[in-house]
Amino acid sequence: MRKKIVAGNWKMNLTFEEGQQLTSEIVQMYKDEAIQEVIVVLNPPFPHLYPVKKLVGDTPGVAVGAQNCSDKESGAFTGEVSTKILASFGVSYVILGHSERREYFKEDNTLLAAKVNQVLAHGLTPIFCCGESLEIREAGTHEETVKAQLTASLFHLSPEEFSKVVIAYEPIWAIGTGKTATADQAQEMHAALRGHLASKYGQAVAAQTSILYGGSANPGNAKELFGKPDVDGGLIGGASLKSRDFIEIVKSF
Ligand code: PEP
Repeated sequence: MRKKIVAGNWKMNLTFEEGQQLTSEIVQMYKDEAIQEVIVVLNPPFPHLYPVKKLVGDTPGVAVGAQNCSDKESGAFTGEVSTKILASFGVSYVILGHSERREYFKEDNTLLAAKVNQVLAHGLTPIFCCGESLEIREAGTHEETVKAQLTASLFHLSPEEFSKVVIAYEPIWAIGTGKTATADQAQEMHAALRGHLASKYGQAVAAQTSILYGGSANPGNAKELFGKPDVDGGLIGGASLKSRDFIEIVKSF
């Protein structure tokens, strides 16, 4: 059975103390409320990663992820952070291909493919984001656009490598806008993506790949989204900054 995952993307938010408090609250609620079948991934800004990992410790079901990484192994790349560094203190996931990185930092499919390779080379799990703009959605070419993103950045992987990847479908028009894709729209795209994976890697690999939905998910709409057969969890932005909201989303399965 594929994994259910809810990942919180803190983006460029929270001071050190706020991050510590949020982490402590989430870990405590996760334990107290006996959540077991959903993996939670906390993705804070880089300086928070080590202290957040210390707080999370070895709590089963709770993992720590980065929001980005270098495409290089190591060396003179001022300001960059390698997956080798991340792996060395227990970071286990990296978000790649988020639309904000594609748009503001001009990350393209080729660069993302190199980052995916780095993440896998050090035994971490990429959460690979894909999604279409409103313009593309309105033109009706959203499925082929999103499939092309996967093909360009992931389809060089062997089936064994690919089986470690998590996908996050994030329609750009729904990110931070309060405008969620309907559960039916999410299901339609997730099923199309799973079909695309099956055509490349076969049914077995496609069936075990977790595909998360991201875009204004909140405690009020998570249950309907997670109720769809091809929605295996969420990548949560704004609502991941409030422990109660985040945990309510996690408990929506
Ligand atoms: C995101 O940026 O990954 C995201 C889904 O943000 P929000 O939940 O705020 O729309």
